[in-house]
Amino acid sequence: MPLFEFRCSCGHIFEKLCRSSDNMNPECPKCGAASEKIISSFSVGRSAPATGCGMGEALPGGG
Ligand SMILES: [Zn+2]
Repeated sequence: MPLFEFRCSCGHIFEKLCRSSDNMNPECPKCGAASEKIISSFSVGRSAPATGCGMGEALPGGG
């Protein structure tokens, strides 16, 4: 499940797992008010290696 970041009007920022990429506004765990989704930015002064990227890669084995 993709992890989204939300920000409440009170200023509290929290993450939440969403099943589908729908525009939802979960309640703030701090005050209980409706929050807004934040557009997370990955490229923040981070150099990626020459190898390919591994987003949402499942680990082998396990059960
Ligand atoms: Zn709040």
